[in-house]
Amino acid sequence: MEFNIALLRGDGIGPEIVDSAVAVLEKTAARFGHTFNFIPYLIGGSAIDKTGMPLPQETIDGCLASDSVLLGAVGGPKWDDLPGEKRPEKALLGIRSALGLFTNLRPAKLYPALRGASPLREDIVGDGFDLMIVRELTGGIYFGDRGYRQGKYGEEAYDTEAYSVTEIERIGRVAFETAMKRSRRHTSIDKANVLESSRLWRKTIHSLAEEYPGVEYNDMFVDNAAMQLVRNPQQFDVIVTSNMFGDILSDEASQITGSIGMLASASLGASTRGMYEPIHGSAPDIAGQNKANPIATILSAAMMLRYSFGLSEEADCIENAVDKVLEAGYRTADLLGGAEGTPLTCTEMTEKVLEAL
Ligand code: NAD
Repeated sequence: MEFNIALLRGDGIGPEIVDSAVAVLEKTAARFGHTFNFIPYLIGGSAIDKTGMPLPQETIDGCLASDSVLLGAVGGPKWDDLPGEKRPEKALLGIRSALGLFTNLRPAKLYPALRGASPLREDIVGDGFDLMIVRELTGGIYFGDRGYRQGKYGEEAYDTEAYSVTEIERIGRVAFETAMKRSRRHTSIDKANVLESSRLWRKTIHSLAEEYPGVEYNDMFVDNAAMQLVRNPQQFDVIVTSNMFGDILSDEASQITGSIGMLASASLGASTRGMYEPIHGSAPDIAGQNKANPIATILSAAMMLRYSFGLSEEADCIENAVDKVLEAGYRTADLLGGAEGTPLTCTEMTEKVLEAL
């Protein structure tokens, strides 16, 4: 099969980690007889330097014309003093909205080999955990009515949480379908004991659940979910939740894996085209030093194969290669923490994954 992949290398460590993922994709393509065409576009600070804009129209058009998008990271101190609209990070919201990406998939997996990196106690971590947060990305309080007004105590500010049945069904369906592809367990998280929008959320997800009798389904209040994630993360497989709850819980989930350089993400819309990126930023403190951990971006590329191109076997192959490399004890500096050992460079870690493929 042949696919066109828009490459948004971005800033800081972005170019290094995207190039690592490209090498892994190229080797996978060769092994399975596919062709991946990589077309680079500017985004973030590097786009500002060349065009004056963080998200040039050419980049939007190129991404829209592609089969999928692989992004490194944007931002850095060089552009920190620019006004909000002109900052590199503005390009992220712009490209997500231009591509109509309403779902954010964030796996949080603690590899058995990296147990020591989790801030959780060993008896809680057990043999590791593997969960997937499905976050609604374009609705809820971040996009609702907002403003200032005079209230009981003088000036006040307000933001509004609003969800339509259509929006809830759309994200709920993605979550049930994701659960079908995993261990068929699904938790919907809301605050239905207090919020009207959450009661509609729960009612809508309940009716959707009837269409997926093979999926074991439960609801949980968000405060309880925040506690359960650190008490017993293994109880979760797929979690679906609103934009704001997902924002908070997915950061919590990524932290308990203990390794920011390992975590991938996918943003998806109505079509198969998605945007795939590591959850970390451009790490300016280590940019250009060949120290970055490329695994989050390599695993993001694997997600692209699975979710946008339907190439599950190829995705498994990349994920297994990463497992093997970690099991063999290879670590970049971020994974070593303060522990003894010689850290691999970004290039060396990429080589190890390529060998394991
Ligand atoms: P960051 O994620 O870039 O870095 C936090 C820490 O984690 C740093 O010490 C960094 O060295 C380390 N780190 C991150 N990724 C790593 C990797 N792959 N390998 C090894 N170590 C890694 O967060 P920050 O420092 O808060 O932000 C830096 C810049 O990135 C800012 O300009 C911020 O706005 C931007 N940012 C961009 C995105 C994005 O593009 N999606 C996301 C978050 C932050």
